[in-house]
Amino acid sequence: MASNVTFIGAGNMAGAIMAGMVQSGYPAAAITATATRDTTLQPLRDQLGINTSTDNHAAIANADVVVLSVKPQGMRKVCESLRESIQGTRPLIISVAAGLSADTLEQWLGGDLAVIRCMPNTPSLVGAGASGLFANDNVSDAQRELATQLMESVGIAAWVEEEPLIDAVTAISGSAPAYFFLMFEAMEDAGVKLGLDADTARRLAMQTALGAATMAMRSDKSPAELKRNVMSPGGTTEKAVAHLEQAGLRNALDGAMQACAQRAREMS
Ligand code: NAD
Repeated sequence: MASNVTFIGAGNMAGAIMAGMVQSGYPAAAITATATRDTTLQPLRDQLGINTSTDNHAAIANADVVVLSVKPQGMRKVCESLRESIQGTRPLIISVAAGLSADTLEQWLGGDLAVIRCMPNTPSLVGAGASGLFANDNVSDAQRELATQLMESVGIAAWVEEEPLIDAVTAISGSAPAYFFLMFEAMEDAGVKLGLDADTARRLAMQTALGAATMAMRSDKSPAELKRNVMSPGGTTEKAVAHLEQAGLRNALDGAMQACAQRAREMS
């Protein structure tokens, strides 16, 4: 039988994970979501068929797993209000909040709990998520396995064995869908400048990103090798890639990811 999973906070991230879980066959009856207002919950009931509640205590009463998915700023209040119920049933805690350590969460919840920090990303919505996971010492092998299964139902999952590496995961996948969306914007604009209509430019850029990622994931060649294979000497791709190198794309990505990880550290 599927484990009962309750999401405290049914916003963008939790909504993406829950939709991905249901689409991949996780039983909707085993999923519960809470929010402060029922208007947030109604579409989830209608579209996913999951259970919903505006009462956090009632929602975790039968939970094997409690996913904490409110904004980091609101997390302390939520944890402290749930402390008694959580200490009574001792479910596995999975937090998706950026920048809050497992120790801090465990302390807010009253201590001695199995806590997993998970850094997911929003492509979980379409089953193409990339999540990083870190477990504290109280997490059993079976609970690790369960968290892996949950996150693999919406994409891929990678464990890190040192907690600070969750900040690196935030930089490379948690926040990273936005880097690609920015590239799509820029490529669409450039395509329009070259004479394409916006819709055609957008579709071609996105399909090319999907194709490149799919090809790279299925290949045993390195990205550098794949790149060389599409660059004939003196050709068009070579010109474009040389321009990207000169314009400092590598540096820009390095700076962006350092800044992202730094911000995650500051938040903890
Ligand atoms: P969001 O604002 O969309 O969702 C937060 C939800 O929590 C809202 O639906 C709100 O109604 C609900 N909520 C607030 N207080 C509550 C309470 N007391 N009880 C029950 N529900 C309550 O935010 P989000 O973007 O989904 O982010 C949620 C968490 O996910 C954050 O901690 C964030 O760090 C993490 N995260 C987000 C992303 C992302 O791409 N959005 C990626 C990785 C991690």
